[in-house]
Amino acid sequence: MIDRCGRKIDYLRISVTDRCNLRCIYCMPEEGVKMVDRSCILQEQEILRVCRIMAELGIGKIKLTGGEPLVRPGMAPLVRQLKRIPGIEKVTLTTNGILLKSQMKGLADAGLDGLNISLDTLNENCYKKIARRDYLRETMEGIQEAMKYPEVSLKINCVPLGIPEQDLCRVAVLARDYPIHVRFIEMMPIGYGKDFRGMSEEEVIELLEDRFGTLVPYQGERLGSGPCRYYTIGGFCGKIGFISAISHKFCRECNRIRLTSQGYLKTCLQYTAGRDLREVIRTGGTDEELKCIILEALAEKPEGHAFLEKAPEDATEKLCMSQIGG
Ligand code: SAM
Ligand code: SF4
Repeated sequence: MIDRCGRKIDYLRISVTDRCNLRCIYCMPEEGVKMVDRSCILQEQEILRVCRIMAELGIGKIKLTGGEPLVRPGMAPLVRQLKRIPGIEKVTLTTNGILLKSQMKGLADAGLDGLNISLDTLNENCYKKIARRDYLRETMEGIQEAMKYPEVSLKINCVPLGIPEQDLCRVAVLARDYPIHVRFIEMMPIGYGKDFRGMSEEEVIELLEDRFGTLVPYQGERLGSGPCRYYTIGGFCGKIGFISAISHKFCRECNRIRLTSQGYLKTCLQYTAGRDLREVIRTGGTDEELKCIILEALAEKPEGHAFLEKAPEDATEKLCMSQIGG
């Protein structure tokens, strides 16, 4: 699929649930989370149907996300079925890792291609402060388990908040000691993220260079399907990456669309632009009708975000990240 700006769209992020076992301060409120009724969430067969149609339109890569995808039962069978769809080359998943220890084998056996584990800190108190829950041990056990399956590529995602106790160097050390990539994701002013400034790519690079020496831009083969820019550091097994939507806007290379857990097709993270696919599915829409609606949505995909400007209020997304899927 080519959008109106000439961008090739081949990547679909699917949020399979709005529920989560953490309450990260930049993503969800501490209390009073309004969970949508389960009947409003797309069922497995509905997700698979959308994916079959998307694959016919040119989507080749799928990322499962949430909320926390592993709190929804049946992730491994879903991965297995997605991998059987002709045209789907890669299925990956992003998780906070808490439930990974018991699910990793099933996911690997189902053919999962890649795993992103979110880990903002290795400091126990800081983890509790950021995630508002005490599950660092479970997350680390999840990472250890994932490392037993080298066929599933592993990346660690960290959102730098600018608080010293987060100790970003300690997170980066995982890429020194293990063959995994550690990526720093710039805070985005979406939902609860609006209350934080976070750290820019330049600030993180300065901090890491002070400790580990020069970060050299990586020029080798492409790693993954996204906008991450990678660096190598002498003596490191893995790479250090940066996804910097604000300080290094990458909308011109955007290759993705998103499906919320309630079946809304979102064409840009910042805006409400898109179409309600669940409505079409549940009122008996045909595959051809769904295809037309997906292409209509694509024809209106915004050119880019306007996080640093004043975007029109009525078109701006009010959902928080846990509802969109990141
Ligand atoms: N629960 C899973 C996890 O944490 O990986 C998947 C969903 S979570 C919404 C996906 C990613 O979005 C996580 O890496 C999280 O750190 C990131 N995220 C959440 N809110 C964000 C924000 N305001 N700015 C940047 N990244 C954010
Ligand atoms: Fe849950 Fe992921 Fe959001 Fe943290 S970032 S609250 S783990 S959805």
